[in-house]
Amino acid sequence: MMPVTRTGAVVLLGARDDAHVQEVARRLRAETVDTVVVDTRAFPERTRLSLTETLDGIVVDGREVGRPAAVYVRGLHGHPLAFGVDAREHMDADWRTTLTAFREKSALLSGLLGRWERMGVPLYNPPSSDWSLHKPAQLAALQAAGLPVPRTLWTNDAEAVRRFAREGRTVYKPVTGGAATRELREADLADERLAALAAAPVTFQELLPGENLRVYVLDGEVIASLRITSPSLDFRQREAVIEPVTPPPELTRDCVKACEVLGLRWTGMDLKRDADGVPRFLELNGSAMFLGFDARGGTDVAGHLTRALVRHARG
Ligand code: ADP
Ligand code: MG
Ligand code: MG
Repeated sequence: MMPVTRTGAVVLLGARDDAHVQEVARRLRAETVDTVVVDTRAFPERTRLSLTETLDGIVVDGREVGRPAAVYVRGLHGHPLAFGVDAREHMDADWRTTLTAFREKSALLSGLLGRWERMGVPLYNPPSSDWSLHKPAQLAALQAAGLPVPRTLWTNDAEAVRRFAREGRTVYKPVTGGAATRELREADLADERLAALAAAPVTFQELLPGENLRVYVLDGEVIASLRITSPSLDFRQREAVIEPVTPPPELTRDCVKACEVLGLRWTGMDLKRDADGVPRFLELNGSAMFLGFDARGGTDVAGHLTRALVRHARG
C-alpha cells in the first residue's frame, strides 16, 4: 500500500466569507499554521475538487491536501435550503436539475469527509455523528443514556397531538429547527389547524419555563457556559441578556456525556430549565455558531477551538 501523504495542514470546510471560517482561519494563520479553506459554497462553480480512488488522493484548487492534521467542518452548503445558500434563481428556472446537482455535490463532499474520518483525521465534527443531528434520534439517544430531556412528540397525527397537549403547557417547533418556537394554544387543536400536519410533521414539546443555557463542549471538556435571559419564549426573537455562568459539576458531567453519547468532538448545546429548575437538553448542534456568544458573553470558544486545531497541526 502507498504511504498516506501527511501535509500537516488544517482544513476549514465552509464558505470563505463565512464569519466563523474567517475568524478561525485568521487565528490559525497568526499561529503560522498551514491553513486550507475548502470553499463549499463556491463548489462546484469556482472551487476545484478532485478525488481519486486512493483514500488520500485529494486535490483542492490545485493543491494536494491528502491527510490533513485536522478539519473544522463549518458547513457543506449541500442543499438549496442550507444556511448560506441562495439557489432561488436556479430552482425557479429548473428545480429538478438544481436538486440533482446539489445531491451530486453533497455526495462528493460527504464522501470526502468519510475518507478523512476513515484515515483517522480529527474532524470537528465527524460524519459518523450525522445520524445524531436529527433531533428525533438525538433526544431519544440522550434520554436512553439517562440524561434529562423534555417530554416530546414528533408527529403528524392530530389525535396524538391532542392527547399530548392535555398533559400540560406545550410548545411546537420544526423537526429540523431554525424557526421560532411557539406555545400551542387551544385554537391550534382545531381540525382545520391540525390538518396542516398532513403537509409536514411537527415537534411538540413540554414547555420549559426556566432559563436558557448555552454550553460548549470541546474534546471532552466544557469550554464555555452562558445564561440567556429573554422576555420571549424563543430567545432569538427579542433582545436577550447573555452572561457567562459556572455550571455545577453534575451539569458539566451531563454536558460532556451528552456530547460523547452522540459521537460529537465538539458542540454548542441548548438547555432550558423545567419548572423544578432541572436543565433539560433541547439540542446539541453539529456546527454551532460562537462568535456572537463570545462577543456578548465574554467567552472564548474561538480561542479554544483554534488551540485544539493548532495542537493537531503541531502533532
Ligand atoms: P433550534 O434548532 O431552532 O435552535 P431549539 O430546540 O434550540 O431549536 O429551540 C430554539 C429555542 O426555542 C430554544 O433555545 C428556546 O429558547 C426555545 N424553546 C425550544 N424548545 C422549548 C421548550 N420546550 N420550552 C420552552 N422554550 C423552548
Ligand atoms: Mg439547532
Ligand atoms: Mg437551538
